Amino acid sequence: MASRQSDAKVAITNVRVFDGQRLAPASTVVINGGVIGTDAAGAQVIDGAGGVLLPGLIDAHVHLDTPEQLAALAGFGVTTALDMASVPRVSAALRGLAGQTDIRSACTPAVAPGSLHAHLPTGEAGLIAGPEEARRFVSDRVADGADYIKIVIGSPFADHDQATIDALVTAAHGLGKLVVAHASSAQSVAKAQAAGADVLTHAPLDQVLDAASVARAAAAGRLVVPTLTMMEAIVAKISPPGADYAHARMSVAALHQAGVPILAGTDAHAASDFIPADVPHGESLHRELELLVGAGLSALDALRAATVLPARYFGLADRGAIEPGMRADLVLLDDDPLADIRATRSIRRVWCAGISREPADTRKPEE
Ligand SMILES: [Zn+2]
Repeated sequence: MASRQSDAKVAITNVRVFDGQRLAPASTVVINGGVIGTDAAGAQVIDGAGGVLLPGLIDAHVHLDTPEQLAALAGFGVTTALDMASVPRVSAALRGLAGQTDIRSACTPAVAPGSLHAHLPTGEAGLIAGPEEARRFVSDRVADGADYIKIVIGSPFADHDQATIDALVTAAHGLGKLVVAHASSAQSVAKAQAAGADVLTHAPLDQVLDAASVARAAAAGRLVVPTLTMMEAIVAKISPPGADYAHARMSVAALHQAGVPILAGTDAHAASDFIPADVPHGESLHRELELLVGAGLSALDALRAATVLPARYFGLADRGAIEPGMRADLVLLDDDPLADIRATRSIRRVWCAGISREPADTRKPEE
């Protein structure tokens, strides 16, 4: 897997680096052998022209099928993606590709037989009929190479009972894996929390999470990946009875105020009949950042939600910040996203572990 350009030394001059809290005064950042270096001697110089350099963005909820999806992610500055359900041999084939977005994966999620999600392409391996199957399910996922364990709670037509969810969480924690719970209703959030899931994903549309639920998430140190882009798209596209995007937005506001870490994730998928709404890879993360700001996060908190926080909480110690020795996952912008979060779309260049990539056409169409 020899990389084409990651051995070359590059110095990006005159850039204002996002340091996780603010933009530092203009300086030079060196890329050396795929990581951030310190010595610019002998480097090829790229004039940053006063632009802004962000750590590569992290989408904490995607689904992956093809290399084209990785390319779309990278073109929009998303240099790390956390897959939250895919066919194991597919996600394995998409790992560690030079110059591409780097991924982690849950592989096959645990789904209830007879539920809507039982029809996912991940198939029968994910069907869990009771707590006695939990340990086998989790050890199979670890054998598949899963980085964390995903449980689908509250799928239409059939659901796991509480004992099954409890057993899955216990088995996952026993093997040192984080548990990500798909919990798209207030009731499924309650089940996920009762079991001790680490990450809740999809902010419910059916009602605003009540104060006790929010306090419980905060006290437990739980993370939330609300996928507001998908929640907005579901309401726009199929408008289920009782569903209101404002419920999702208000829950995120309450969770954020209570100190619950909110991570940026989109639920980007391939278009399919199974999925209620199209969320494209890459472009959607920029929409998610806007929606997080719309839910009350500052632009700073939104940027942290797509950089330092997912790196910290998913154990990705080599990224999420621009510091010597870290992976050279970088996004060079024309404009300052702390002043206006929409500026994350002003992408001039992207580096995946030091390999330079052309940006996608990230500017929004004329409105
Ligand atoms: Zn998903």
